[in-house]
Amino acid sequence: MLNRYFDSSASCPVSGESIALMQSLYQDWYCNPFSPHGLGKKSFELLTKARQTIAKITGAPMQSIYFSSGATESINILLQGYMRFLNSINSDRNEILISSTEHLAVHNTALSLKQNGWNIKFINVDENGLISPEKISEQISEKTAIVCVIAVNNEVGTIQPIEAIAKKVKEKDPEIFFLTDSVQAMGKTVKSFDLRFVDAFMLSGHKIGAPKGSCCFYLNPAIRIHPITFGGGQESGYRPGTTDPVLATVLADVFSKSVDNLDKNFQHLSKLNLFFDQALSKRGVQFQRIVDQAFASPYICAMIFPEIKGNLLIKMLSDRGFYISGGSACSSSCGTKSRVLEALGKNNQDMMGAVRLSFAPFHKGEDIEELALAIAECIEKTKTKTNADATKTLILQENVS
Ligand code: PLP
Repeated sequence: MLNRYFDSSASCPVSGESIALMQSLYQDWYCNPFSPHGLGKKSFELLTKARQTIAKITGAPMQSIYFSSGATESINILLQGYMRFLNSINSDRNEILISSTEHLAVHNTALSLKQNGWNIKFINVDENGLISPEKISEQISEKTAIVCVIAVNNEVGTIQPIEAIAKKVKEKDPEIFFLTDSVQAMGKTVKSFDLRFVDAFMLSGHKIGAPKGSCCFYLNPAIRIHPITFGGGQESGYRPGTTDPVLATVLADVFSKSVDNLDKNFQHLSKLNLFFDQALSKRGVQFQRIVDQAFASPYICAMIFPEIKGNLLIKMLSDRGFYISGGSACSSSCGTKSRVLEALGKNNQDMMGAVRLSFAPFHKGEDIEELALAIAECIEKTKTKTNADATKTLILQENVS
């Protein structure tokens, strides 16, 4: 079934190796890492080791890595926490700039700042979803407190030139807090960012093959935030609540392996993308890539099939045991129009035929071939049905007249 699962950008399967690691660790490390006894202390050491591993790979100081339950929570802690800090010092800054293609985790958190009197400005993207580093400084004002740009877009796969963008932002105003939602990038297209310019990023376990609920974020130690939830003071008080050393260890392990295989996986998936286009063309399937492959993550393949509605294709493929998605899993299940596709200038007709396929390192050429064949068959079936319906209507009309 795994070879027909094309939705790893929503959630990546947890590998057998990680399940085995988790199972063995939970046998010994069931206790609270903050308990005062020997077992607690050992458990705390395990947590520290996981933090060290992630810090070493990303080049961040260990104390700047905070464990949390997910990227959405991390983004809320960072953005709302920074707003609270600025409020506490009566700062005049109350403007947030976000790209028009952010995931809802950033988009809706930014909107929540509006309720506190903040202004929100959107940074436009071009037809490939790209932001121009040169243009971004034009939108910054003396009121700008935060700039957020998604590193790899979850819906269309655009890879932003994050470091060039962050550098321009800092050149314009070094006081600005620059955050990147790096969930679809970490361990896939990058292992970290230039921490001279990027102040915050996050790593969500379920996007790379660790369990849901495992996540961490980096925050520049020079930046202060106020907590948004209150409790026992764990994770420096930014994310109070008992931290799980086992989840943290599995996250660090999976991240470490992803980084070791980053280049190899990137090349493998780039080849699969090319192969997919060829396999579709060979079968006469009409398609359009939403983002030019040169600017997209090979993990995310966003396509428009003009001959079939996206939702229908998702259902027909699902009935055959192939799992793909439309837009991001969250917005497509709500059935709303895609903000992201609109930002790229796509019209309603295009949006109807849009789907997102996620390729993963475990996929092989034959899986892609099977997928292309299944898509071709689904399209053919709808064409045959449309022709049959048209013939029926014609016969009915002839009988009436
Ligand atoms: N940001 C991006 C780009 C995502 O793809 C997702 C996952 O859907 C999130 C944020 C939210 O991540 P999490 O599920 O860890 O809260």
